[in-house]
Amino acid sequence: MNVNTIQKIVIAGGGTAGWMAAAACAKLLGKSKKIVLVESDEIATVGVGEATIPSLVLFHKILGIDERAFMRETHATFKLGIQFADWRDTDTQYFHGFGTTGKDFWASGFQHFWLRGRELGMADAFGDYCLEAVVAEANSFSHLPNNGLNYAYHLDAGAYAGFLRRIAEREGAQRKQGNIDKVVLDKSSGDIRSLVLASGEQIAGDLFIDCTGFRALLIEKALHVGYEDWSHWLINDRAMAVQTEANEACVPYTRSNAHAEGWQWRIPLQNRIGNGIVYSSHHLSDEVAEQKLKSGLRGECINAPKIIPFRTGRRREVWKNNCIALGLASGFLEPLESTSIHLIQQGILRLLRMFPHSGCEPETVAEFNRQTVFDTERIRDFIILHYKVTQREDSEYWRYCKNMDVPDTLAHRIDLFRKTGHVYREGNELFVDSWQQVMIGQGLPPERHHPLIDEMTEQELKQFLLGIRQDIQDKVRRLPKHQDYLSKYCVNQGEAK
Ligand SMILES: Cc1cc2nc3c(=O)[nH]c(=O)nc-3n(C[C@H](O)[C@H](O)[C@H](O)COP(=O)(O)OP(=O)(O)OC[C@H]3O[C@@H](n4cnc5c(N)ncnc54)[C@H](O)[C@@H]3O)c2cc1C
Repeated sequence: MNVNTIQKIVIAGGGTAGWMAAAACAKLLGKSKKIVLVESDEIATVGVGEATIPSLVLFHKILGIDERAFMRETHATFKLGIQFADWRDTDTQYFHGFGTTGKDFWASGFQHFWLRGRELGMADAFGDYCLEAVVAEANSFSHLPNNGLNYAYHLDAGAYAGFLRRIAEREGAQRKQGNIDKVVLDKSSGDIRSLVLASGEQIAGDLFIDCTGFRALLIEKALHVGYEDWSHWLINDRAMAVQTEANEACVPYTRSNAHAEGWQWRIPLQNRIGNGIVYSSHHLSDEVAEQKLKSGLRGECINAPKIIPFRTGRRREVWKNNCIALGLASGFLEPLESTSIHLIQQGILRLLRMFPHSGCEPETVAEFNRQTVFDTERIRDFIILHYKVTQREDSEYWRYCKNMDVPDTLAHRIDLFRKTGHVYREGNELFVDSWQQVMIGQGLPPERHHPLIDEMTEQELKQFLLGIRQDIQDKVRRLPKHQDYLSKYCVNQGEAK
């Protein structure tokens, strides 16, 4: 095959996944490839992916996005982590912050020093040693030198798609509006040749990116790759979302409040709050879910609650023939740790790195699929951890979660941490420090600390722990309130003069 086999990339779907892919492909490949995105004005986007994780900052750097403009146009706020209430048990709370907790010393992770300090009654809560968690709880924020504060964003999903669309179109991507009626396959190779719109227009291409959301029109309806169902581990299968007026200063974190049959989110934007309840339809009816959702709201609703059914799991292959699925078309974990947009980003960057300029070689396809499975399964395990490691037994839902079998990969991590306090990073997996934050937060204290810690005198340990706390507190004292920082940061520089 010659080097220019892939000349035209067709992206099906214009939600977050479609426009992220279009913006990145146009920016990085637009000079040599034609990029076309097809979306339907009649089929709404899912519209609820509004909390992100810090990797998005990097994605924006790659695209050369101006942060202030992005935040203004998407009504974004800063996010330092997630506050989990009632997860470990009712009336408990912990914070999963984006940074590291404490600092490792000698050959030992910080959690061992903390455990010993806890035994001796000289340590504060684990989260008090994580800068991001303490800054968040103080409702403060500022950019710090050398990326000293890890952050992500809360954003308006619809506005974000519009923002990315402008970048993509500026970089040469072409948008087509219309309903995709049919996917035409090449009979001998099984490759996708074209998409046929309801108008009869035919859009041919060399490489197709399926971003059609839960419909998965290309990867599943046309190519039948199959779905690996994870609903026995991640049992929620429904969400109900509603927006409310912003009636308080924006906090720099997502709230996740567990309830007897699921959990509820609260995501602050500059102009409104995103709320939603995630639940298992086997345990909770839509009517009761709506009552629960509404009883947890703080402001007036500005739209009607919208039900979003889903099935947790992943496509067996996200790349088949000349089609790559991104976003909801590729599968869905659940929104608990806001990881879907990150997985879209990973898929796009992986595609760009492994771009099949000379055709879709089976080796490239297999490696792409292998890496995707690895990323997705590690994140899956991390999310299941929140349900499995709990002391809640107040409902059938929580009793099921607490007693369910979990994937071997997760069972191993839990057992290792329980017995030794050790955590590890496998390959390039996303979550690192987060494992111990959530395991301790959910109530899984290790049975012993690392024996190395006993080499430290009690006085030395006290100084070590105190030094970290004081350093964090000194930093936090100097930071402005998140709302004040946001209001100044997002002012249009032209208007400010
Ligand atoms: C309840 C819930 C909460 C979530 N919260 C988060 C979160 O906080 N953070 C996070 O990272 N992720 C979250 N997600 C996931 C996130 O919403 C998605 O990953 C993200 O919005 C990307 O969606 P998408 O672009 O794949 O699909 P969609 O937004 O559904 O877009 C699909 C596109 O395909 C088009 N389309 C479909 N069929 C056709 C057709 N026949 N012809 C033409 N066009 C068609 C539609 O018009 C649309 O443009 C959440 C998901 C759910 C369900």
